[in-house]
Amino acid sequence: MEAEYKGDVIIAGSGLGGLVCGYILAKNGYKVSIFEKNHQIGGCLQTFTRKGIKFDTGMHYVGSLDEGQIMHKFFKYLNLLNDVKISSLDRDGFDVISIGGDIYKYANGIDNFVDTLAEKFPNNKSDIRLYANKIKEIADASFIYNLQNVNPDVVVDKDIFATSFNEFIDSCTDNPKLRKVLAANMFLYAGVWDKTPVYVQAHLNNFYIQSAYRIVGGSDSVAFSLAKSIENLGGKIYKKAEVEEFVCDEKRMTKIRLKDGRTFEANYFISNIHPQVTINKIASPLLRNVYRQRIASIENSISNFTVFLVFKKNSVKYSNYNFYFYENEEAIGLEKYDLKQFPLNYFYIHQAIDTDNEYAQGAEVMTYMSYDCVRKWENSTVGKRGEDYEEFKRECAEKIINKLNEHFPGIKDCITNYYTSSPLTYRDYTATVEGAMYGVIKDKNLPMQTRISQRTKIPNFYFTGQNINSHGMLGVIVSAISTASELVPKEKIISDINSC
Ligand SMILES: Cc1cc2nc3c(=O)[nH]c(=O)nc-3n(C[C@H](O)[C@H](O)[C@H](O)COP(=O)(O)OP(=O)(O)OC[C@H]3O[C@@H](n4cnc5c(N)ncnc54)[C@H](O)[C@@H]3O)c2cc1C
Repeated sequence: MEAEYKGDVIIAGSGLGGLVCGYILAKNGYKVSIFEKNHQIGGCLQTFTRKGIKFDTGMHYVGSLDEGQIMHKFFKYLNLLNDVKISSLDRDGFDVISIGGDIYKYANGIDNFVDTLAEKFPNNKSDIRLYANKIKEIADASFIYNLQNVNPDVVVDKDIFATSFNEFIDSCTDNPKLRKVLAANMFLYAGVWDKTPVYVQAHLNNFYIQSAYRIVGGSDSVAFSLAKSIENLGGKIYKKAEVEEFVCDEKRMTKIRLKDGRTFEANYFISNIHPQVTINKIASPLLRNVYRQRIASIENSISNFTVFLVFKKNSVKYSNYNFYFYENEEAIGLEKYDLKQFPLNYFYIHQAIDTDNEYAQGAEVMTYMSYDCVRKWENSTVGKRGEDYEEFKRECAEKIINKLNEHFPGIKDCITNYYTSSPLTYRDYTATVEGAMYGVIKDKNLPMQTRISQRTKIPNFYFTGQNINSHGMLGVIVSAISTASELVPKEKIISDINSC
């Protein structure tokens, strides 16, 4: 079969990274073709609907969306503001955290954040202020928040980039309880106490402390809007088009081959597929063994088990906050533990509603789950994993619902139906290794070994997505900008964003 020429750029994968990259390149005159293995585009932005309720699978809340803040600028540049409906979380407590039954709140705005936590830690107000100022300083000193206009007056200790957030929090306070509270939204970045570099936590927390929003009507609206814009700019998105091989000649990449045998040529290629999966699709010696081994050896972040709840009509009041539950202080950041104790921690959120209804229609409860828990079913496919797998999921779901009911008495009786996802679900829907929530782990002890650049030794082939830079709405958009700036001057992209 003869290869079809697909113009300037082929992007494999239509996750947030692939779509944002495609949008920037299309906006700058490149003819872009995106190939997505699934029927639905978006990767972690995919949604599914049960009993009329739409559920998000991998995007629950987004920060810094007030006018003038960084995500608002990105949304404006990406033409998302018209199509994506957002709703602000409670400014005096967008995250509510329960640790061993004690309740703490994260509030929006630095002063509000400090004052709110200081109500619980009156003797540590200056520690909380130090923490909040420091994470802002780290974020402000980076390209992400300043769109390259780094403020020369902000001097950040270079050591901060080689500091784990564990060490960083230690440097802010001696109060052991406060240390835990400041780390309590670890679910957002699957933080590992002694590995996660502090900049990951600093960017995320600062991002949300500025403002925090849910996406109303499903995070797939972000994917659909970007896809529409790409197509309006002359690009094309192929669904159910799984890339099986990236083909190179002795100097560069020449084409992709899909699972159905079709081949497509282009001048440049970008992979939004997990890099460890991507390199196995490239046979070329242009990628040296030492590079392959380094990429393959990077540890992946933990996966999750999620229960999606459908509520009886008008039975559960809509909560305009996210709820983090920890059985005790030790459960913060605890990823692996005996399933008999399951769940020691969870993250509970209501699906944002697009009416003025004061009742929630559906919710999600997410817990960490390691791939090992489902490894014995790893050779099965969606819907055909067997009754013992279904039984395992039922048991996990019941434990989670019972635990939720302890904190929200009576909620169990408000649930009409529930659905579940496991690490295998994420592995199969997004092709991420072992269902890792946030891709590879950035390890401050191995900064160079765990960093994946958008550039490769194949001169016309790049990576994009959460494994490059960082994960989440912010991390992935920045990653896409970095990748796109291999073909479009970064100054132009930055100036376009700033002038939106
Ligand atoms: C449970 C969960 C909750 C989260 N909550 C939040 C949150 O509240 N806020 C936030 O900011 N971030 C959140 N995130 C993180 C965020 O969703 C991700 O970091 C981001 O969406 C990842 O985008 P990506 O483009 O890197 O990868 P992905 O979304 O994984 O996209 C990769 C794409 O490549 C496609 N693909 C794979 N293999 C092939 C192939 N062979 N051929 C063609 N296509 C292929 C996949 O189908 C997929 O569409 C969450 C993530 C998870 C898992």
